[in-house]
Amino acid sequence: QTIGQFFDAMAARQGGREALVSVHQGLRYSYAQLHAEVRRLASALLGLGLQKGDRIGIWSHNNAEWVLMQFATAQVGLVLVNINPAYRTAEVEYALNKVGCKAIVTMARFKTSDYVGMLRELAPELAASTPGQLQAARLPQLRAVVWIDTAGQGDEEPGLLRFSDLIARGDAQDARIDAVAATLANTDPINIQFTSGTTGFPKGATLTHRNILNNGFFIGECMKLTPEDRLCIPVPLYHCFGMVLGNLACVTHGAAIVYPNDGFDPLKVLETVQAERCTGLHGVPTMFIAELDHPRFAEFDLSTLRTGIMAGSPCPIEVMKRVVSDMHLSEITIAYGMTETSPVSCQSSTQTPLEKRVATVGQVQPHLQIKIVDPDTGAVVPVGQRGEFCTQGYSVMHGYWGDEEKTREAIDAEGWMHTGDLATMDAEGYVNIVGRIKDMVIRGGENVYPREIEEFLYRHPQVQDVQVVGVPDARYGEELCAWIIAKPGTQPTEDDIRAFCKGQIAHYKVPRYIRFVTEFPMTVTGKIQKFKIRDAMKDQLG
Ligand code: ATP
Ligand code: MG
Repeated sequence: QTIGQFFDAMAARQGGREALVSVHQGLRYSYAQLHAEVRRLASALLGLGLQKGDRIGIWSHNNAEWVLMQFATAQVGLVLVNINPAYRTAEVEYALNKVGCKAIVTMARFKTSDYVGMLRELAPELAASTPGQLQAARLPQLRAVVWIDTAGQGDEEPGLLRFSDLIARGDAQDARIDAVAATLANTDPINIQFTSGTTGFPKGATLTHRNILNNGFFIGECMKLTPEDRLCIPVPLYHCFGMVLGNLACVTHGAAIVYPNDGFDPLKVLETVQAERCTGLHGVPTMFIAELDHPRFAEFDLSTLRTGIMAGSPCPIEVMKRVVSDMHLSEITIAYGMTETSPVSCQSSTQTPLEKRVATVGQVQPHLQIKIVDPDTGAVVPVGQRGEFCTQGYSVMHGYWGDEEKTREAIDAEGWMHTGDLATMDAEGYVNIVGRIKDMVIRGGENVYPREIEEFLYRHPQVQDVQVVGVPDARYGEELCAWIIAKPGTQPTEDDIRAFCKGQIAHYKVPRYIRFVTEFPMTVTGKIQKFKIRDAMKDQLG
C-alpha cells in the first residue's frame, strides 16, 4: 500500500479517536479531522501547480502543520524534503538546490532564528513576486514560499503565502486527489531526509512509501501500540526518529501523536506526559538524561508511561536502567538504525528480557536481513566478533538523491547497505553497536573502542555524561581523550577519574587527556559530533 491508502483506511476506522495533540499550539485533531485537513492541504498543493514527483521542503520544528504536510504530500505523490531547523542560509540553499525543491513551507521565526528573513536574503526577488511564480537567481527551481502563521506572528509577508490561507484554498472533496492517488506505486520516492551530519556533511537519502510505511508499522508492532496509546514525541520530525518512529508508528496503529514542544524542553516533556496521560515517550539518550536530572523531576506523575524508544546514539545501560525504574518505562526498547534504512534495522520487543533490552539494540526487525562482516574482506565474522553491520530488505533507501557514486559506495551490488557501524551479534541474534568505524581509535597498535570506555566512566558517581575520542599523537599514533560533564554540584578532578580507572581497565584504555566541560557539540537531534571534539582537541594540543 501507499501511505495515503493506509492513512485513508485508518481514518475511516478510527474517525472519532484523537490523532494529534500539539500541546504548544493548543491544537487537537481526531483522525477524521486530521484526514479532512490533510485532503484540503493536498488539494491546495495541487492548486499551487505542484505535480507528482515534485519536491517540497519543510523547514520547521515540530508542529501540526508538519504532520499535515507529511500526509498531504504522501496523498498526492509529492516528495517531502525534511530540512533541519538548525540549517542557516548556506545549508538551506544547498539543500533546496540539491534536490530541486519547487516550494518550501517554513516557520516564520523561532527564538532568534528568522527563517523568513533567511529566505528573503537568499531570494530578494520574493518581495515583488506572486506566490507560485517566484523566479530567484540563487534558488532557480523554487516557485513558492509558505509560512506558518504561529500565533502572534500574523503580519503580512509580501510575496509569501500564509499556511492557513493556502489550506483554505483547498477542497477536501477535490477529485484530483483520488485521480493522482490512483497512479501512485508504493515504490515511488516520497521523502528525502538528510542524515544528521554527525560525521560530516549531511547526505540526502531518498525513501519510498514502502521503505518508511513498513518500518513505521513494524516499529509500532514492537512497541505493541494500540489506539489506546498516546505517544509523546519530543524528538524532531525533520529526522526519521520523529517522522517514522513517532508519526508513522502511531498512525499505522491508530495511536495519538503528542508534541510537547517545538525545540526540546525537558520540563515541557514532563508536564505533557502528566497532563496528557501519555503511555509512550521517545528520546535520544541526552533527552532522557535531561528529563531524569531535571530539578523538578520528582514532582511529576509519570505512572501512565509504559513504552517508548531510546535511539539515535549509544544508549548507556545506566540511563536505560534509570528510565525503567524512575520513569515507569518498563517496556522501553532500544532501536538501532540509520536514515538510509528508513531507519530501524534492529529493535528489542516488549518480550525481550530486561537485561538484554538495556544492554543490546535487540534483534533484526521482521522481513529484514542483517549480517556482521569484516570491513576489509567482506566475510561474515564469527558470532561475538566485531565487524561492520550490513542490512538488506524493504528498508534500504532508494539511494542518495542525485549521487549515484555515493549510493554505490553504500549499497553493494547484492543490495546490502554498509552502515559504517561496528557491531557484534550473539548466538541468539542480539546485536550490540560498539561504535562507528570512523570513531575507532588505534593507540600504539591496539584497537580501542571509545564506547567501552564511556560505558565504564558512566559508572563514576560524579560523571553525568562522557565522550571519548582519539586525538593524534606523535608517539602512539593516537591518544585517548575524555570530555566529561560532571553531575550538578560535584567537582571531580582528573586524578579522581584516573584513580577510578586504575586496576579496572587496561592501562592503554585510560584516557591520557581529561577535560571537564559543560556541554558537547551536538546536532539538533541531540547527537554528539565527535569530529568537533577531535578538532577542538587538535587546536588545543597544537
Ligand atoms: P551522518 O551520516 O551524516 O554522519 P548520522 O549517521 O548520525 O550522520 P543518522 O542517519 O541520523 O545520521 O544516524 C544513524 C547513526 O546513528 C547510525 O549509523 C549509528 O551510528 C547511530 N545510531 C543509531 N541508533 C543507535 C543505537 N541505538 N546505538 C548506537 N548508535 C546508534
Ligand atoms: Mg550516517
